[in-house]
Amino acid sequence: MKKIWLSPPHMSGQEIKYIQEAFDSNWIAPLGPNVDAFEQELARYVGINEAVALSSGTAALHLALIMAGVGPGDIVICPTFTFAASANPIVYLKATPVFIDSENLTWNICPNILEETIKYYVKKGKKPKAIIGVHIYGMPVQLNEILFLCEKYEIPLVEDAAEALRSSYHGKKLGSFGKMSIISFNGNKIITTSGGGALLSDDPVIIKKAKFLASQAKDDAPHYQHSEIGYNYRLSNICAGIGRAQLDVIDERVKSRRANFEFYKKELGKFPGISFQNEPPGFISNRWLTCILLDSKISKEINADKIRLYLKTKNIESRPLWKPLHLQPVFKDAPYFGGNLAGDLFEKGLCLPSGSALSDVDLLFISKNIGDVFHIALKSLPIG
Ligand SMILES: *Cc1c(COP(=O)(O)O)cnc(C)c1O
Repeated sequence: MKKIWLSPPHMSGQEIKYIQEAFDSNWIAPLGPNVDAFEQELARYVGINEAVALSSGTAALHLALIMAGVGPGDIVICPTFTFAASANPIVYLKATPVFIDSENLTWNICPNILEETIKYYVKKGKKPKAIIGVHIYGMPVQLNEILFLCEKYEIPLVEDAAEALRSSYHGKKLGSFGKMSIISFNGNKIITTSGGGALLSDDPVIIKKAKFLASQAKDDAPHYQHSEIGYNYRLSNICAGIGRAQLDVIDERVKSRRANFEFYKKELGKFPGISFQNEPPGFISNRWLTCILLDSKISKEINADKIRLYLKTKNIESRPLWKPLHLQPVFKDAPYFGGNLAGDLFEKGLCLPSGSALSDVDLLFISKNIGDVFHIALKSLPIG
């Protein structure tokens, strides 16, 4: 039985052309023509001035926080409902992550709790240094509300658009709203460079500084001269070649991901207790992963874990939603503001296979098996 993965890489076949160019010209290094071209093509695609290609999305976020001036003891706000990589760079800088619950509409950071939290820290004389806005599973955060607060309290927004390339908010692509934004090209993301990321900004000073820090902070001198601590965070010219070919097909990739979502919604929406992530008017998600929620009070006691384990026997990979960071052992001492909305998502949710190369046969096979979990449960109900 072949394995159906959650979100595997999907090559176009053209990647090898750019890789071959890199070999032919011997640009086997973390710089070169593919890197330059990839940065320009990516910035143009997102609709922002400039991009820096980096070794990972995490590296991009690390640099973004450095440039936001985050240092030891500072407060940085982050949603609790996200991947640990959204918060780890806060800790690299010895700052304190403050986690915030989700709202019901998009599952992203709740603007009301965010404002309460900002007020709380402003009162204590510890105004947060940055707000990380994560577009979870590709769904835009409530940007109007968040940007309003960023302006009101003069705190920069760093967009974590790692999962959200080609998503948009009222017609404008994500990654173009923050003072800085980051994207991931990890193997499981919407397009991949095998591993990689990017930092985006309209500000040329930020971009220049990011390139400087990402290539070991070398001062302008004939010898190796350093006045600052640097990092080795640039993307290889070979990986950037993969990225160029992937960027050429991103519209098709997102179309497939969105079609997966529509398929699941049509096939699974009819089962009792299953619901999906909303897409409010003006919000367009790339539907990186399709997630279902199971309300086991109405789903005949069927919960996400039951479905996950059943799919596993059919060699189908599925996964619980993100475990909230304030519930992670490593962040147990970090402050948290909110209730249990994110915790509830974690308990009820399941990410379904969502790759852009899934065939109709695969999709039918997956939904048929999820349906079987319901049918088996119904059949085994005691009679009378
Ligand atoms: C994948 C991801 C990252 C990290 O990106 P890498 O390229 O894997 O370092 C950060 N934030 C979110 C929300 C992600 O999903």
